[in-house]
Parts: sequence; structure tokens; C-alpha cells
Amino acid sequence: MSALSELIEEIARCQRCEIAKYRTKVVPGEGPEDAEIVFVGEAPGWHEDQQGRPFVGPAGQYLEQLLASIGLKREQVYIANVIKCRPAANRDPLPTEIRNCQEWLEHQIEIIHPKMIVTLGRYSMAKFFVIYYAMYHSAAALHQQSLRQAIEADMLKIPVLLAESKTVPEAQPQPQSQQLTMFEE
Ligand code: URA
Repeated sequence: MSALSELIEEIARCQRCEIAKYRTKVVPGEGPEDAEIVFVGEAPGWHEDQQGRPFVGPAGQYLEQLLASIGLKREQVYIANVIKCRPAANRDPLPTEIRNCQEWLEHQIEIIHPKMIVTLGRYSMAKFFVIYYAMYHSAAALHQQSLRQAIEADMLKIPVLLAESKTVPEAQPQPQSQQLTMFEE
């Protein structure tokens, strides 16, 4: 059995949160173990809870259309959620639920080792939110006067970006191996 299948079975047995008692099915995630892209949503909704599969309701159908627009089928990407059980009445996930579930998503990503993680929605974005800001090397600007203006303007944007990053909700501590993206919801 593959490492990912074993992990999925372990997730299916998880009872860490109260909501595990009320789930119809756990929704661990699905897709190839060697997927290049992992999509991470928030939490299962009603349809997902019924089927034990992520993104199978209306949001999932639309996601499939979006994937098709770039020539991808859902079977070619890995699709998961920050939390694996449906919160009652589709409420937002609680911080304790996000914490309890954190280990599962981290293991999934470790095993899949994707080239890209696409976060869908603010809870998913908050989990990964780190800004990588590319600038010229200061030595390059010393040698090439024409770069000075660009590097100085880029430098001035850092405090603005940092302040904006603080508006992202519930940022979780980052495992060092994960690097990531930021998209507006
Ligand atoms: N929305 C999510 O965030 N996840 C799902 O699985 C379905 C809808």
C-alpha cells in the first residue's frame, strides 16, 4: 500500500474533533500521489460529507470548469481541504479544528511533494501565507546605476506588503519545508 493510501486510512480513523462524531464520511482528499499541483480548499460541505470526496458539489463543478480552462482534469491534480470533516451547518472551521487537522494536510503535501500549491479561500491561504519578494541584489545595483531606482522603489514596498500580510486571518506557524503563494479570495 502506498504511503498516501496509508495516510488516507489513518485520516479516516481520526476522532480528534467533536465534528468527527457527526460526519457521514471523512473527506481526506484525492488525486495522484505524484500530482504537480495540490489545490487546498477550506472544509467539506454537505455533498462532500455525503460522498467522502472533496469538491463534488457546485463549487467542485465550477472548479472542474476552471481546471478545464487550463487543460487539466480533476484526476490530474490533488484536491484536499484544510479540515477533513464537515463543520455543522457549514460554519467556519474553529482554530482547534484547524490545529487538530494540520498534521494531515502537512503529511499529504510531504508525500505528494507538489511543484505548486493553490490555496482556495482565506482559511487555506492563511495556512500557507508567506510572501516571497524578489529584488535585485544590492551588489548588482552598485555596479549598474540604472538598477538603483528600481531596487530603491522595491525596497519601499516592503513595509506596505508586510502591513497587508497582517490582515490575513489566523496565520498558522509555517513548517520550514513549505513555501508559498498568496492569492486574494
Ligand atoms: N468548499 C471547500 O472548501 N471544500 C470542499 O471540499 C467543497 C467546497
